[in-house]
Amino acid sequence: MVVREKELERMKGKVIVSGILWMCLVCLSLAWNLYSAQKEHETIALLTARSFFDQVLIARRWNAELGGVYVPIGRKVTPNPYLKDPLRDITINETLTLTKVNPAFMTRQIAEIAAEEKGLKFHITSLNPIRPENVPSPREEVALRSFESGTKEVGYFLSDEDSAPFFYMAPLQTEKGCLKCHADQGYKEGDIRGGISVTLPYLASFSSLSLIVGHLLVGLVGLAAILNFGIKLHRAYNRILHQAVIDALTEIPNRRSFSETIMRELDRCQRENFSLAVIMCDVDNFKAYNDTYGHAKGDDCLVQVAQVLKNSLHRSTDFCARYGGEEFVVILPNTSKKGGLHVAERIRREVENLKVVHEESLPLGFVSMSFGVSIREIDALTAHEQLIKQADAALYLAKKNGRNRVEVFAERMIA
Ligand code: GH3
Ligand code: MG
Ligand code: MG
Repeated sequence: MVVREKELERMKGKVIVSGILWMCLVCLSLAWNLYSAQKEHETIALLTARSFFDQVLIARRWNAELGGVYVPIGRKVTPNPYLKDPLRDITINETLTLTKVNPAFMTRQIAEIAAEEKGLKFHITSLNPIRPENVPSPREEVALRSFESGTKEVGYFLSDEDSAPFFYMAPLQTEKGCLKCHADQGYKEGDIRGGISVTLPYLASFSSLSLIVGHLLVGLVGLAAILNFGIKLHRAYNRILHQAVIDALTEIPNRRSFSETIMRELDRCQRENFSLAVIMCDVDNFKAYNDTYGHAKGDDCLVQVAQVLKNSLHRSTDFCARYGGEEFVVILPNTSKKGGLHVAERIRREVENLKVVHEESLPLGFVSMSFGVSIREIDALTAHEQLIKQADAALYLAKKNGRNRVEVFAERMIA
């Protein structure tokens, strides 16, 4: 019984561990998916910002290769005070004067339109700006310094701002066309002259909710399946274990269970030094009962006898089993010869009181049982085989002396 409970506990533990492992796996998958989604979100933002930057760069290159472009002075364009060029302004006639727009000025103009229409921010900046408005912000300054040590670009979400915009910045390298304006500052072709930052407005963030809900559902369904499987396995295992130790007909412990119990109880009685009684019980003239009333009736009779045995035992440590056929056995730990005799007599009386008619079992005319009692006395080193043998010898004597009686083992029975 103890082994059986341990096995069941172990199985329960395995099911719980499987459930925990499953939930850990689902959590790991969720963490990985959230991480991947966040990375993908960042990649999309980076690629978007980079393509805005590249577009501005192409427009600037076009402007630089043309040596600047002339546009009419008007409300939107006024001469660039920082452009040192004798041909900066050209008067065409009384109504039309053109002014030169170089790449830097053009970038500012594009940045203003972008900021008005899309909320997209461009900022051309340098650690050595010609125009004071192009002084870098602290964030841009950090990026510009990192470009000087070889960083190609920077891009990250501004988590400190509510809408979490994406900040991107890449360096501006001096190209041939740039030297017209920037040679004076000491720049050579290939030098990093500054950078353009692109701040994308709020990008729709990925929905972590659907991932969480999806994983939660998969996790719970899996957990339910594991639990369901565990319960079924537990029941099947319980049934198998039950069948291994319980007699199928009488539903009381079987002989195997008796063998385990007698050894355990004998060990215990030797350790704790108390006496122990074993009672072998056998239905009288049972072959004749079967022959007269049929095997099915015989089975019913055995079930009734088993119940009587079970109900006659009052202590929690008392134990009864079907030993085989119409034979039963009782173990009474911590019981003296007197106690063993008393219990055997009680069972005998109660079987008799069942009054199961057995016309072939005379003189009683009812089903009866004979009993053989053996005792493991205090301090004796009696082995279990010896105890059974002695109870059997006493039972034999009970049969010999007329059945429906109790006999206690005495040495002379074996001699
Ligand atoms: P005694 O009083 O000397 O014990 O005689 P007996 O007839 O009871 O003993 P015997 O060993 O000759 O016969 C035992 C009978 O028990 C034989 C067998 O048919 C019957 N028996 C054993 N197991 C079962 C069972 O599971 N069901 C039924 N119905 N009968 C069984
Ligand atoms: Mg028998
Ligand atoms: Mg018998």
